[in-house]
Amino acid sequence: MKIHEYQAKELFGKYGVPIPRGKVAFNVDQVKEAAAELGRFPVVIKAQIHAGGRGKGGGVKLARTEKEVAEVASNILGMTLVTHQTGPEGRLVRKVLVEEGLAIQKELYLGMLPDRATAKIVIMASEAGGMDIEEVAAKTPEKIIKVFVDPLLGLQGFQARQLAYGLNLQPELVKLFIPMVNRIYKLFVDNDCSLVEINPLVITDDGKLLALDAKMNFDDNALFRHKDLLDYRDLDEEDPLEVEASRYNLNYIKMDGNIGNMVNGAGLAMATMDLIKLAGAEPANFLDVGGGASAEMVENGFRIILSDPNVKGVLINIFGGILRCDVLAQGVVEAAKKVDVKVPVVIRMEGTNVEQGREILKASGLNLIVAKDLKDAAQKVANIAKS
Ligand code: ADP
Ligand code: MG
Repeated sequence: MKIHEYQAKELFGKYGVPIPRGKVAFNVDQVKEAAAELGRFPVVIKAQIHAGGRGKGGGVKLARTEKEVAEVASNILGMTLVTHQTGPEGRLVRKVLVEEGLAIQKELYLGMLPDRATAKIVIMASEAGGMDIEEVAAKTPEKIIKVFVDPLLGLQGFQARQLAYGLNLQPELVKLFIPMVNRIYKLFVDNDCSLVEINPLVITDDGKLLALDAKMNFDDNALFRHKDLLDYRDLDEEDPLEVEASRYNLNYIKMDGNIGNMVNGAGLAMATMDLIKLAGAEPANFLDVGGGASAEMVENGFRIILSDPNVKGVLINIFGGILRCDVLAQGVVEAAKKVDVKVPVVIRMEGTNVEQGREILKASGLNLIVAKDLKDAAQKVANIAKS
């Protein structure tokens, strides 16, 4: 789960990580009030969307007077903000963070995420922080230092110092940085984060160290033990089909292709997507209905796939184990009765009760293309994609 900058900063505040003063606002009047509360200019007005690159896209603006506050607020609120992370369609801005404008001496980078290869938490830091960090990573990766924290041992003193010295911090700033990075580490672990990124972490003209930007993602599989965090979820920022799928506990991820697919088991789902690509087509989604799916889940999954307007054909690939082929067939037939299936549907199933499953499909009178095996299924979807 992703959250907004203003929400991440609220958590930072709870953990004692220094942040600028600021407040979220949902309309121009609230922006004016928040700016008045800050009590001095300049203020910075920042679009709140679940994507980075807002500065470059025109979603972060400075206002030096009351008049500018109103102007900037009305420009940003309601704009469709396009950044390198939103895709060309952009995102509608529904709220902004109104923040004190700081005099920045230097912009640093600090990021934390799990590293799968070492099974540790990697902390990355760079002196070359700010809006061009992607370029730094691509062209001068040596400017990014990394320490790998063993989650059983926690962040060690020498590692925090390694980061501080790697950032070339003056002694007074080292003293501010060490407790700060420890607090961020605690925040990361306590909340089962999959990412905490502060870009920029700034040194101000008056020698303070603050998190000027804040990006946090959480491990969805751990959210059950962080019920309080669920209040931060913003459905406006999520793909509507993914939101609907999550209501039925379906593992659905929307993609850009035109061949929808429904599979049981994540491994088989990935293999099926490979198969679709191998046959020269592009998958429209990932959907693992799960090993123990009910007919109702199959029905919902099928309906969600079909409501994606890009889908020109569907491949259902099920290996009947715990999910029996007859249950699957029943779900598909029920779904097909309720929604108008306008695209060809190829089904490949094998395993428990496969004969009963085939009977159900045949008896339904639906126009389903039954594939003999995986290879045949691949060939059939490829033909759909080509036609
Ligand atoms: P994004 O990463 O989405 O572009 P940031 O929050 O990093 O958004 O803001 C972009 C840039 O705007 C920062 O690198 C910084 O230079 C400037 N900025 C952001 N917030 C403030 C602030 N409160 N005071 C001064 N400058 C700011
Ligand atoms: Mg940033």
